[in-house]
Amino acid sequence: MNKRMYELGSKRSVIREIFEFGKKRAAEVGADKVFDFSLGNPSVNPPQIVEDTLRELLQTEDMTALHGYTSAQGDADTRRAIAEYIARTQNVKTDPDYIYMTCGAAASLTITLSAICNRGDEVITFAPFFTEYRVFTETAGAKLVELASDPETFQIDFSLLEKAFTEKTAAVLVNSPNNPSGVVYSEDTVKKLAAVLEEMSRRFRKSIYLITDEPYRELVYGGVKVPYLTAYYKNTVVCYSYSKSLSLPGERIGYIFVNPDAENARELYLAVCGAGRALGYVCAPSLFQKMVARCQGVTSDVSVYEKNRDLLAGALREYGYTSVRPDGAFYLFVKALEEDANAFCERAKKYGLLLVPGDDFGCRGYVRIAYCVSPEMIARALPYFKKLAEEYGK
Ligand code: PLP
Repeated sequence: MNKRMYELGSKRSVIREIFEFGKKRAAEVGADKVFDFSLGNPSVNPPQIVEDTLRELLQTEDMTALHGYTSAQGDADTRRAIAEYIARTQNVKTDPDYIYMTCGAAASLTITLSAICNRGDEVITFAPFFTEYRVFTETAGAKLVELASDPETFQIDFSLLEKAFTEKTAAVLVNSPNNPSGVVYSEDTVKKLAAVLEEMSRRFRKSIYLITDEPYRELVYGGVKVPYLTAYYKNTVVCYSYSKSLSLPGERIGYIFVNPDAENARELYLAVCGAGRALGYVCAPSLFQKMVARCQGVTSDVSVYEKNRDLLAGALREYGYTSVRPDGAFYLFVKALEEDANAFCERAKKYGLLLVPGDDFGCRGYVRIAYCVSPEMIARALPYFKKLAEEYGK
């Protein structure tokens, strides 16, 4: 068998380990004594219109067409609806023939990385980052180059970025709103990033692509705006997913949007189609393609996450914890109260608090707290966060 695949399959992710531990512990001591902040599973129901649309589709459409294969790149009406929605809301040029329907952001990313990279290429990303980026990039035959971010803001540290480009750089991969930090890249960061990419593309005489991983685009609070990167840098590929915006992570639906104005856009889109084919990702789930076509612009009730963020971030600050300003997604990335985040998480476990050490996100000394949980669980967990801080003399 393939050694790498065996290793990936036999070694569970740290997040999954903690989640499994939580289930076991709940059976031992009672579910009310376990506060599982490990998993990024939406805690808000999908909007009612999702269920209504699915019911309608199941009643009215030709069943063989509804459940049958769509074209490999996705249903034409769905791609048209998405292209129209992006054009209307983001003021960029779109074309349904540059949209590729996928099974969520994970598939969007693996397809895009395989479409862009050749063996030995490098993909630059910024810590903290989604743990699976290493796996996805290596599967595409490339190497993930991990750069630290500005520790005060977790925006890009441009002094590091400028030095990181080489002949082998194929792409820069960003994720804003960010998992695990909750940070949203400012327009200033995006403009500077676009300028560096222009300059490096010129210097190395090739198109260096910007891949933007956007499952949390709509999950932002307090009126914060998420700049649409295609509008700032033309060689951009958007990897989108409905997993979080419509609370449908188990249904596996998302898309890739290649900018029709990118250099060699047609070839790039065809490479996306080729990668989808090579990876076996043709024809995303048909029923959900048709559903999202009718639910463009719809989002789950994110005010629930905003209230959770305010409650948790406010209380933790009061107890002496620090974190960068979390404007989006549903995570807090908090400084551990000792150097070793793993040891800190072990101590937190004593109080039933299940947190994820930041090491796997490329950032030591931090822990991720996923606040996509019930507000009532947060309220019950707060006294334990306080006791934990007191152990460290806070
Ligand atoms: N990218 C980031 C930053 C994520 O947080 C996740 C899931 O949590 C994914 C990609 C994968 O998303 P999906 O479930 O749509 O494949």
